[in-house]
Amino acid sequence: RNDELAAWDRDYFFHPSTHLAQHARGETQGRIMRTGHGVHIEDRSGQQLLDAFAGLYCVNAGYGRTEISDAIAEQARELAYYHAYVGHGTEASVTLAKMVIDRAPQNMSKVYFGLGGSDANETNIKLVWYYNNILGRPEKKKIISRWRAYHGSGLMTGSLTGLDSFHKKFDLPLEQVKHTEAPYFYRRPDLNMSEEQFVAHCAAELEALIEREGPDTIAAFIGEPLLGTGGIVPPPAGYWDAIQPILDKHDILLIADEVVCGFGRLGSNFGSDFYGMKPDLMTIAKGLTSAYAPLSGSIVGERMWKVLEDGTDEFGPIGHGWTYSAHPIGAAAGIANLEVIEKLGLQDNARDTGAYFRKSMAEALGNHPNVGEVRGEGMLCAVEFVKDRDNRIFFDASEKVGAQLAAATLANGVITRAMPQGDILGFAPPLCITREEVDTVVAATKAAVDKVLG
Ligand code: PLP
Repeated sequence: RNDELAAWDRDYFFHPSTHLAQHARGETQGRIMRTGHGVHIEDRSGQQLLDAFAGLYCVNAGYGRTEISDAIAEQARELAYYHAYVGHGTEASVTLAKMVIDRAPQNMSKVYFGLGGSDANETNIKLVWYYNNILGRPEKKKIISRWRAYHGSGLMTGSLTGLDSFHKKFDLPLEQVKHTEAPYFYRRPDLNMSEEQFVAHCAAELEALIEREGPDTIAAFIGEPLLGTGGIVPPPAGYWDAIQPILDKHDILLIADEVVCGFGRLGSNFGSDFYGMKPDLMTIAKGLTSAYAPLSGSIVGERMWKVLEDGTDEFGPIGHGWTYSAHPIGAAAGIANLEVIEKLGLQDNARDTGAYFRKSMAEALGNHPNVGEVRGEGMLCAVEFVKDRDNRIFFDASEKVGAQLAAATLANGVITRAMPQGDILGFAPPLCITREEVDTVVAATKAAVDKVLG
């Protein structure tokens, strides 16, 4: 059966984000997974792995939570589907909407449920355009994102994403999208810059871009509170405090993409709370259901909501919806998931055990000559590897050092992620990880580093 599955996989399955030719040659590390419990996952051959990336940083509650799977089964038995168009809903979708808004920042008003982070960001951009059209300023449409950002892989969201591979050969980014500097202090343009100077530099770059394009043409700025896929990069101190007034001055909306940061990953409800951001829109997915079922959300703040609501009196029903908007099975998963996270105090664990994680990783690897930086926040950690630490010289991409390190760590039984740009190992385990399990991850990583880099 294993052989048969491998053949079907090769013959019929088009894998996302995969080097297709390498996969066809059997050179990728893909494996078919079978079961999971807590931070552990088992593949079809019976090998146990510790998943220190929680899938794609989404299984926040941990694998095998029967409270969540039972809630899904119960909802499927009771009412597997009804839509949310023209004012309909289900008990689960309405209940989850209240739970989300109760936990969101004060000014947040309504949540529009979708399926994944990409479609939620597509929704957010459409809402921004719709809002500006209702306000009679159709020229205010451009969206500013950051290099290294990840906001999805649709046409608009792939454009917002600031990673080359999501643009190359897809004719992206769309012309309405402009990118500005990532708040990545380790990769600051000038090594002599202090953190404060670098923040001022990021703010000046943003101001210059707005002036170049014309403030009246810029509708919104989108940012992950903490850059995730771009390298797990916490912003330098004061970054959001420097960005927010620039947006306010030019009447530019702020979209906080909370897909990774939301629901406990930083030890807070949202990254916006953690960094004191004041978003007009928030994007949620991943941790909303811990990926037990697909569900995302676009949370709309008061100032936009009022305009949208009044707009429909003038222009008719809002022409934006998916068949699966607010799917009751996703909503049931979301309710049970938020209850598990809160009952088990997983936000607190993300903060406390997350701090232990980074401290242990820094103790084990911080002095290694090829380790440039150990960083993170909450239950997020990244180790950035460099050829020459003192002069901050990076490895050549062709050496694939990050991928080699991830493979060697996997051979030691621990799943990490080689982040897509640079030689960075990312760690984002389920929020329930214990200190003993952290020790296992750190030991496996250190052994891999010793093997690959000496
Ligand atoms: N936004 C952020 C910050 C993400 O990290 C991701 C996915 O990793 C997305 C959006 C896209 O979410 P999805 O893959 O569910 O479409």
